[in-house]
Formats: sequence, structure tokens, C-alpha cells
Amino acid sequence: MRLNLNLYNMKNILLLLTILMCCFSCHRNCVTKAPNKKGSQNISDLFKAKIDDKAMNFNISVHVVYDRTKPPMSSISADIERSVQEANSFSPKMQFSVVSSQYVKNKAILADIRQNKKKESSLCDGEDISNTINMYIVRSTNDLEGYAPVLANNFEEYVDLPDMNRVFVSYKGLSDGAVLVHELGHFFGLGHVNGCRNYMSYNCYRDTFTPEQLDTILRFAKVYRSYLQVPT
Ligand SMILES: [Zn+2]
Repeated sequence: MRLNLNLYNMKNILLLLTILMCCFSCHRNCVTKAPNKKGSQNISDLFKAKIDDKAMNFNISVHVVYDRTKPPMSSISADIERSVQEANSFSPKMQFSVVSSQYVKNKAILADIRQNKKKESSLCDGEDISNTINMYIVRSTNDLEGYAPVLANNFEEYVDLPDMNRVFVSYKGLSDGAVLVHELGHFFGLGHVNGCRNYMSYNCYRDTFTPEQLDTILRFAKVYRSYLQVPT
């Protein structure tokens, strides 16, 4: 009994140390733009709207981008599964299913395409699968682990902008399920926060949304991303 208790305490202390180390040592790993003043107003207005409580399902199309050597799907499928599982764990009201996985041969580097919409388009136009969230797994040569192209306001335009149905994660970011959840947070209206362990922070150890963030995601999805919902 005493041994079990000590082991339990040890585990907690290790977890706490990991979190503390991450909070003090991490770098910015996503530079997606946040909602601006007007966008923030649109988001707070969501809380005045009457929104039903029904669960939502979204389909994800995976695009594995490679340059010279095609990575075997067996080596990345576990990472894809881990990321999608994490995305399915933050709310039972929001579930994601991978409906396709395909290779794309392209020299794209994450930091380049984030800065250059033309390069992003040359990678994605013709690859995107409509009515799904297109998740691109892209090589990264620096600390950038992901980004999501989002609007800072006028979110009602999303329905007419198929090039905004994308999230990007690096190969390394894919192995940390929190990166996909972070990008989906942006996809559904969230900006960054500083909270330790928060999915929308820059910390390495991230495993939580606040109740308000969760509510924002669900409301944002119902109002501005409803065109992507899989009919049930
Ligand atoms: Zn971010």
C-alpha cells in the first residue's frame, strides 16, 4: 500500500516537473492569426445565439506530403491515429473521422507555405477533398509544427472559401496529438492563450481546453463551420 502510494506520488511529481519544464522552455510553434477586434465580437455574439446541443461529426482527409522518399503509411498511420484520437477526446459533442489518406509528391516546407499562399495553393489546389477538413502532413525544417489558414473576422465567408478547409501539421507535430487539436482550435475560432497545459498555448505539454474555449469551439462549429458537418 505504502509502495503504491509512493509510486503514485512519484508519477505526479514527474508529470508536474515535465509540465513546469515545458512551460519555461518552449518555443512558439504556431503562428496562425487570431480573431481581430471584429472577429472577437462575432465570437462573443455566438454566446447570445440559441444553439442546439446535438453532436457534430466532421470528416478529415489526410494528405501525406513527401519530396524524395515516400514514407511508408505503416510508419505514420499510428501518429495519424494518435492525433485523431486526441481530437476525439476533447468533447463527445465533436467527433472526427479519417475518410481518406493519400500521398502528395511536393517539395513543400511548412514555414514556406505558411508565408506564401501561392505555394500553399500549388500544394493543395487539386488535392483538397471537398466537404472535409483537409489535413496536410508537411516537412518542417524549423520549430514550426503546424498552422491553420483562418480568417480574423467575417467568418460567415468560410462556406465560400474551400482553401480555408485546411490544417497543416509537421511530421513531428503529428506525433504529438496536441498539435492537431491546437490547429483545430484555430479552425473553430480560437486564438492563443498563455495557460499552462492549455491546447492553445505554446507549451509543449498541452492537454486541456477551458470550458469557455470548448463552448466557443462548439458554437463556432455550429454557426460558421456547419457546412462541413457530416449529416447524421
Ligand atoms: Zn497556434
